[in-house]
Amino acid sequence: MTMTVDLDLCQNHGQCVYAAPEVFAFDEDEILTYQPEPPESQHDKVRAAVAACPVRAIRLVGES
Ligand code: SF4
Repeated sequence: MTMTVDLDLCQNHGQCVYAAPEVFAFDEDEILTYQPEPPESQHDKVRAAVAACPVRAIRLVGES
């Protein structure tokens, strides 16, 4: 699984951080950071984050 987040769309709602805190986080400037290739153990949580994002900013590029 590879993922991208459109930071122009992202409005820092934080639902992705809540859904998958090991993959998504805010840095000290409140900018979203994320692991673009999350480990298999995180895939379900990443899918939950995709579904939870209110602006649909998270895209899965490939599925394993
Ligand atoms: S849930 Fe969506 S809008 Fe909110 S921080 Fe995550 S990517 Fe950005």
